[in-house]
Amino acid sequence: MAIFFNEEFYGHVQDPFHPESPERLRGIVQKLKAHDLWGDVRASKMGQRAHLELVHDRDYIDFIETCGECSLTMDTRVHHETYAIAALSAECAIDAVRFSKESGKPALAMTRPPGHHSGQNYGMGFCYFNNISIAAKYLLKNGDRKIAIVDLDVHHGNGTEQIFASDPQVLYISTHQMGIFPGTGNVDFVGKGEGKGFNFNMPFPSGCGDSTYDVAYSDFLKPVLEQFDPDAILVSLGVDNHYRDPLASLSLSSDGHVRQVKSLLELAKSCRNRVTFMLEGGYDVPSLAEVVAGAYGAMQGIEVPLDFMDMIDNSCLGRNVIERCKRNASEYWDL
Ligand SMILES: [Zn+2]
Repeated sequence: MAIFFNEEFYGHVQDPFHPESPERLRGIVQKLKAHDLWGDVRASKMGQRAHLELVHDRDYIDFIETCGECSLTMDTRVHHETYAIAALSAECAIDAVRFSKESGKPALAMTRPPGHHSGQNYGMGFCYFNNISIAAKYLLKNGDRKIAIVDLDVHHGNGTEQIFASDPQVLYISTHQMGIFPGTGNVDFVGKGEGKGFNFNMPFPSGCGDSTYDVAYSDFLKPVLEQFDPDAILVSLGVDNHYRDPLASLSLSSDGHVRQVKSLLELAKSCRNRVTFMLEGGYDVPSLAEVVAGAYGAMQGIEVPLDFMDMIDNSCLGRNVIERCKRNASEYWDL
């Protein structure tokens, strides 16, 4: 087990009151230290342009590097230091998957800024370079043949979907909230061209929580991932699906979230424990911190006590969405 983290990530400040703040990482680090989990922490060297080019257009990379002070969207600003820190975040993702491949152990990449909304030639939604996609492309370039990306963030990973929509070597499965930013992630989109049957979306209505995620895992994620039989699993670990999160309205508890992590760790035993969790969103710092600590504890078989458990959803409100996703997928997978 190892944590991949750079102090430089604290230097990324879009605006003084921006929700994607350095306090998010400070809260996680503090919590990991409080539970004696801040042990094997590894820093990456500077970002490499060649790695960014695995996914992004040269013109787009040039723009982020040279624009100085500008805005990609209203909530995604570029400052002079943004390029170096965002490139380092992508490098952090690569170092984490490389560690997992070499050691046969899970890894946690504290990637900041996040990445899953960034596409081949655009950034948005607090994201500049798509860390998880860059790491997946890196693995494919270095001998792997099949990578699964599981996106637990409450927002759809539109960038990741766009990058791999036509690629049968990458299976992308996203659970997210229906009808919020960025507006993509329709349940009926299953990929295009050769990538058909390798992209699945479960857009859950507001209020869905633990029980919906448990069924999504047991009835969809587990059987599809087992059949896909990936070389490695990469996870977009967003914690903004938590009931305390201020930017969305799903209702996962801390335990419900950590249970998803444990399930994925169990599943990864069939691919030599090659599973890497990469930070995406999560804007309520206390719940973000305890879920990430719970996740990293789970990687080591340590139970971290969880406080935010007073909303346990048993309604399985998202069952219809899961059923529809299963129907769409049954054309390609045995479900
Ligand atoms: Zn998010």
